[in-house]
Amino acid sequence: MVPMKTLKDIDLRGKTVLVRTGFDVPIENGKVQDNFRITAGLETVKYLLQNHCKIILAFHIGRKGDKENPALRVAPVVEELKRIMRDISFLEASGWEGQMVKRMAQGLREGQILVLENLRLHPGEEKNDHHFARELASLADIFVQDAFCVLHRDHASVVGVPKYLLTVAGFLVAKEVEELDNAAERPTHPALIVIGGAKTETKIPVIANLLAKGYDQVLAGGVVANNFLKNQKVDLKNSTVDQEYLDDAAAIWDQFQSRIILPSDYVWNAKEQIFDIGGETIRSYQDLINVAKTIIWNGPMGVFEEERFRAGTLKIGQAIAVSSAKKIAGGGDTIAALRKFQLLEQMDFISTGGGVMLEFLAGKKLPGLKILNK
Ligand code: ADP
Ligand code: MG
Repeated sequence: MVPMKTLKDIDLRGKTVLVRTGFDVPIENGKVQDNFRITAGLETVKYLLQNHCKIILAFHIGRKGDKENPALRVAPVVEELKRIMRDISFLEASGWEGQMVKRMAQGLREGQILVLENLRLHPGEEKNDHHFARELASLADIFVQDAFCVLHRDHASVVGVPKYLLTVAGFLVAKEVEELDNAAERPTHPALIVIGGAKTETKIPVIANLLAKGYDQVLAGGVVANNFLKNQKVDLKNSTVDQEYLDDAAAIWDQFQSRIILPSDYVWNAKEQIFDIGGETIRSYQDLINVAKTIIWNGPMGVFEEERFRAGTLKIGQAIAVSSAKKIAGGGDTIAALRKFQLLEQMDFISTGGGVMLEFLAGKKLPGLKILNK
């Protein structure tokens, strides 16, 4: 891993600092539902406050163009920040009008925090428009990248701003990279990947990369397992299979089959679809988890949202939680399952990145990370 420049490498005292954070939290009825991604980013903000900086926070929430998850305004996040940091004065830029934002940034006092409007409400963000990147850069003396969750995107606040401003990694980005790099490159053996869920296309490359790096076993569940089982000519009836990735699964199987462990029994729903791993599979996976020294978990074993298909994810989650291995978990639905089962605290590291964690573990080069390398 190439070392990164971080906050500690530069003199920040009294500077105006633009911080790209990963405060993309779920919001319902104008309230933040879960503040994990906010609390994970606070170490950087507090360090800047201690260094008498003027702070400008920029982040995105939700997805533009997605009717069910429209891009939202940052106001509820500002409310949550005020609740967490009671004695700090916050200013809120309620739009992207350039002169207004500039004036607010120039009027900032030491120890104050200006929160910019949702980055994805500006058309320049996702297009990586250089005018927008330069406009953002002109607000501050230093840029701190602390949004691990977007380092795989070539957006203005990821790869654009660093072209115009001295850029360093924040503490969260540094920690994520260190944890995931250690887990991928220097695991203590036996090293396991427990992988399930539905998004096969993001997970199959992770399996290939970690097995090539010497991971001892993959324990598969969910639709990911179905893709391998299908190639084994198991009759999956109406179960979901990701047709596009059958060939990739077959190629990985040919290369690593002795290290890919598949379910041997299943729980079916009324439509003859596999919706969970069965009891025999749970027991054999538990045995492997019990002796592991490194475990990376991404993706539920079944449709844990429904009571009848919960056992696989719950029992495997509990086995991971009590194991003495180094335990790393990530993925939106995996974290939701861990929270539901009250197992979050027992993991050693929870990644704030879903897609980006998988790309990192698949060995892909992240554009936002390349820029941070010394
Ligand atoms: P993560 O967000 O943790 O990376 P994914 O988004 O890939 O995980 O997948 C999570 C979803 O996969 C869950 O909503 C779960 O219900 C679903 N799932 C798990 N097993 C199956 C299965 N056998 N068939 C269909 N869906 C499944
Ligand atoms: Mg998901």
